[in-house]
Amino acid sequence: MSQADYRSRDLEHVIHPLHHDALVQQAHVWVRGEGACLYDADGKCFLDGASGLWNVVAGHGRQELVQAAADQMQQLGFCSGFAGNTNPRAIELAERLADLTYPSIEKFFFTSGGAEATETSIKTARHYWKLRGQPEKTKTISLTWGYHGLTLAAMSATGIESYWPAFEPRVPGFIHIPSHYPYRYQAPGGEDPAIAAANELEQAILREGAETVAMFLVEPVQGAGGIIVPPDGYFPRIREICDRYEVLMVADEIITGFGRTGRMFGLEHWGIEPDIIQFAKAITSGYFPLGGIGINGEIASVLEASESPFMHAFTYNGHPVGCAVALRNLDIIEQENFCEQAATKGDHLLERLQATLGGHPHVGDVRGKGLMCGVEFVRDRSTGEEFGREEAVGQRIHMETQKRGLFTRVRGDVFCLAPPVVTQIEQLDQIVDVLVDSVDAVLGEG
Ligand code: PMP
Repeated sequence: MSQADYRSRDLEHVIHPLHHDALVQQAHVWVRGEGACLYDADGKCFLDGASGLWNVVAGHGRQELVQAAADQMQQLGFCSGFAGNTNPRAIELAERLADLTYPSIEKFFFTSGGAEATETSIKTARHYWKLRGQPEKTKTISLTWGYHGLTLAAMSATGIESYWPAFEPRVPGFIHIPSHYPYRYQAPGGEDPAIAAANELEQAILREGAETVAMFLVEPVQGAGGIIVPPDGYFPRIREICDRYEVLMVADEIITGFGRTGRMFGLEHWGIEPDIIQFAKAITSGYFPLGGIGINGEIASVLEASESPFMHAFTYNGHPVGCAVALRNLDIIEQENFCEQAATKGDHLLERLQATLGGHPHVGDVRGKGLMCGVEFVRDRSTGEEFGREEAVGQRIHMETQKRGLFTRVRGDVFCLAPPVVTQIEQLDQIVDVLVDSVDAVLGEG
């Protein structure tokens, strides 16, 4: 069946995430994948510049993951994870994560994906403070440009405003502070921008009252908001503020976890640890939906002392097949040294992007950490003035790259790249060449 036939059937009955009929009419119907490549129903090959949705770190078509799922399905395809039930794969995965994540993180709650992980950390933080005798500590502070998922609470924590209007009112008790966004954040007169941006958290806590703030939710590198890498001084100061005002620091490592940034987890770059970590996506390379949170020993001991049960339950908690796939995928991540690969390949990609596009009159910023890179297009490079929305520059560049066999994501006029860790160096060069040609086509050579 041709791609056109699939599209018209799709349009009849499928509602997509971020649905818009115009997009569905040009949909890629993906039928096969291999390594860093995706194939559509017409047989055309695309480089997968976004690793699916940031998750397929081990690349497409990994037979080890297929086998791990098949073996587990044959043995036991599902069992309850509710208290009073468990399964060997969930136990093994939690043990493995206790070794792999930050030293202070000890216990794990599994979910099916990222938004459920966000929801779980918000509810865990509230539960924790109630048990500590501080029931007023319920608020969540997060960053503009942060993305944390689609459920109402996760959407309320999300700082990308376009996700809100159709579904408001947002859940009360969610506060946003400006992102550290090095290219755009304006520090008040002469202050170090890293410290000033972190101090936005302190000011918000003081405004709201520390006795009302449960947690600060933050991505180590902002992903969906446009690959925004914090300045070095930011996270150490954030950690100090969270400690000082007794606010739990929750790291949303749903994109940054498991090697993507060149370290196993993102905050390792800045030598600090969160109180709660959220993960999903790359834990299974996307071959099975699985996410979760990890909590530190202090939170765990408070929750354990509770007399009432933790009334928070998903049918698919600790899914044996998901956990089996995750375990095999973690073998791949460790045996093939994904952290080092992401660091080296990421440096290569960033250098090539800087060398080819860094001087273009409509490129305001080229940035990245490991295999997460972003190129921000602007009308005026000297002032950072943005293009008008109606010009849809990012979208037009995205269309041109697709004609040339590259598929990835854009956030407005920020072109985002997060290819699988298995992408070959020559394929990274090809990605850059396609982007350069596409920029020429839309904005001229400059
Ligand atoms: N947090 C972050 C940082 C994410 O990037 C995402 C997904 N893009 C989510 C949460 C939500 O995950 P999911 O779509 O699996 O619910």
